[in-house]
Amino acid sequence: NALRAAAQNLAKQAEAGVPTIFDKIVKKEIPCTSVYEDEKVLAFRDINPQAPTHIVIIPKDRDGLTQLSKAEERHKEILGHLMYVATVVAKDLGLKDGFRIVINDGVNGCQSVYHLHIHLLGGRQMKWPPG
Ligand code: C5P
Repeated sequence: NALRAAAQNLAKQAEAGVPTIFDKIVKKEIPCTSVYEDEKVLAFRDINPQAPTHIVIIPKDRDGLTQLSKAEERHKEILGHLMYVATVVAKDLGLKDGFRIVINDGVNGCQSVYHLHIHLLGGRQMKWPPG
C-alpha cells in the first residue's frame, strides 16, 4: 500500500545519503530539546511522546546505519554505546522503576526515520505485547 511504498522510498533516500531529519537535528538546522550529548551520540525529547518520558537516542554519524538491520561488524561499538547511553539518560531522568527501549526496524517495525535510533520510554506502566 501507499504507506509501505512511502517508507521504502524514505529508506532508499537515506541509504543514498540524503540527509535525514535527524542529520538536520545534529547539524542544528532543526531544533530539539537535548537531554544528553557527547562526541558520538545525541539524545533529545521525542516531539510526539508516547510516554511521560520519551527520548530518542541517535548516533551523530549514521555511517550506513539507516536501520538496525544494516548493522555491520564496525557498528558494534556505537551500538553498545547507544544502549549504554540509554541507561545513563534513564538514570538522569529519574526512571528508577524501570523503562523500555525500542528500536523500530523497517516497514514491519513501523520505522519512520531512516537514521538508526533508540527510543527510551518511561514514566508509566508499559504493556506487553506492544502494538
Ligand atoms: O522509530 P521511528 O522511526 O518511527 O521513530 C521516529 C521518531 O522520531 C518518532 O517517535 C517521532 O515522533 C520522532 N521525531 C522527533 N523529531 C522530529 C521528527 C521525528 O522527535 N523532528
